[in-house]
Amino acid sequence: MTAPVIGVLALQGDVREHVAALSGVGAQVRAVRRPGELDAVDGLVIPGGESTTISKLVDIFELREPIDKRIAAGMPVYGSCAGMIMLATELLDGRPDQRGFDGIAMTVRRNAFGRQVDSFEAPVGITGIEDGPLHAVFIRAPWVERVGDAVEVLGTVTDGPAANRIVAVRQGNLLATSFHPELTGDLRLHAYFADLVRAAT
Ligand code: GLN
Repeated sequence: MTAPVIGVLALQGDVREHVAALSGVGAQVRAVRRPGELDAVDGLVIPGGESTTISKLVDIFELREPIDKRIAAGMPVYGSCAGMIMLATELLDGRPDQRGFDGIAMTVRRNAFGRQVDSFEAPVGITGIEDGPLHAVFIRAPWVERVGDAVEVLGTVTDGPAANRIVAVRQGNLLATSFHPELTGDLRLHAYFADLVRAAT
């Protein structure tokens, strides 16, 4: 089987870590900064970082309309953390000028876990991923407060103050997690996304 070509939106955030993880699961990886580079990929990862900055840069680099169009045409996209925020159709606690893509029908709260649990790690089981829960790393992470009918909840926090909060979702070819699998060396989520891209191509 040919390797899927997966882009990483390379405007800001932990681009390198996603590139390494995607290479590790056998994808051909490309940095995406221009519309022409977007045309050349079968799927896209929006990394963690700072969603307000990514939103601004998406406009400066004239990528908003091209990405919305590719999403509407069924391109698989995976957003982690700030990337999840960018994929939400509705955002709480965002900056008034930040804007996401026409992505997953969900309401996401930015920096949701609050000060005490600003950054934490927890095991999170993901529907469709075998061999036990992922070790999920949360860094000033969002959570999902509401999902539309088309959205499948793939993972929730199991205990502690944030128990039952939704932290992984999928709507068709769009995938989002509150946490950062690219920081752990566990490649199962990237493998799941690469399979999704392969199936869609
Ligand atoms: N708090 C960040 C934001 O609002 C997200 C943090 C992250 O991606 N690690 O974009």
